[in-house]
Amino acid sequence: MPDLDRYHRQILLPGIGEAGQRRLLDSHALVVGCGALGTMIVDALARAGVGTLSIIDRDTVELTNLQRQVMFDEADVEQAMPKAEAAKSKIARINSQIVVHARVDDFNHRNAERHIKDVDVILDGLDNFETRYLLNDLAVKFGLPYIYGGAVATGGMSMPILPHPRKRASGIRSSVTWTQEQSTPCLRCVFPHAPPPGASQTCDTAGVLGSAAAVIAAHQVTQAIKLLTGNLDALDRSLLSIDVWANQTRRFDISGARSLSGCPCCAEGRFDFLDARAGSAAATLCGRNAVQITLPDEATEPVTLDLNTLAQRLCPHGSFTYNGYLLHGRFINETTSQGEPIELTLFPDGRAIVKGVTEPDAARSIYAKYIGA
Ligand SMILES: [Zn+2]
Repeated sequence: MPDLDRYHRQILLPGIGEAGQRRLLDSHALVVGCGALGTMIVDALARAGVGTLSIIDRDTVELTNLQRQVMFDEADVEQAMPKAEAAKSKIARINSQIVVHARVDDFNHRNAERHIKDVDVILDGLDNFETRYLLNDLAVKFGLPYIYGGAVATGGMSMPILPHPRKRASGIRSSVTWTQEQSTPCLRCVFPHAPPPGASQTCDTAGVLGSAAAVIAAHQVTQAIKLLTGNLDALDRSLLSIDVWANQTRRFDISGARSLSGCPCCAEGRFDFLDARAGSAAATLCGRNAVQITLPDEATEPVTLDLNTLAQRLCPHGSFTYNGYLLHGRFINETTSQGEPIELTLFPDGRAIVKGVTEPDAARSIYAKYIGA
């Protein structure tokens, strides 16, 4: 039996009570992205006693993350810890009664469906629209609640999505159920197109205030707790937009968006992002001066690299270490146009992030030269 004493102040709330707390403890939340929003979301869900958390993030902790990403500290930066693992080890000290699955992985159309088994709710901690549309496709296709959130500069937006009910595929066991009347428009009903590359601000170019992300994350977590405790009537069914610097809070009524949009996703049942065949093997990470390399689809046999041996092999070319999760280091003879050393982060599945280059071909050639084609 879980110890309920620690949740006493939450159990006092009429909308939760002991029954609601037990529902939270039986729940499983999937958090995709563990940056500003993601760390604040998993921190709050862990403290609230959501019994199982799955956290997916592909990156490692960097110094510039610490200004807003609440789960991480300087030791995580020094050890180049993967964010998902760093969050998991922090949560173990906050609430040892819950289960955390850390997935150090790129979330994409190839692996997306693998991550939703036994999930009750999906929360968005992402920084780009393409992956959000993928989450939206998943939510609509499998009938899962999805809580969209985004924050940049001094503001952000949040909106819970209860897709139009459809027959759930086997293996989907979300405890959250709703009627057709309670369903909401999906992300593509409200935002039919992603902003074109370069047209929208990103956290890397425009910056982000930690408190703006905190407000959005708090709204997302609150909606998740309402859903998981069966308080659907209390759900905020609007699109919330907040700018904490301009002192603006706006709430958009989106109830008519589905009938107006002729949505390819939730009306026509087309899952463009989930069904995408061609995933680029090398993708420039927007605004980060880095390129990510993933092994192509044809590599059906999963690889597990011996990163310890690889780190030793790379030693003549720079300072490379293996920390138990990944290999990380800087080259001596591979430099940027400003003369800064190019950095390599390599994961056991062969995925790599080459920092200091923006051209996919340049990253590919470094990968081929030092890791192999
Ligand atoms: Zn839709």
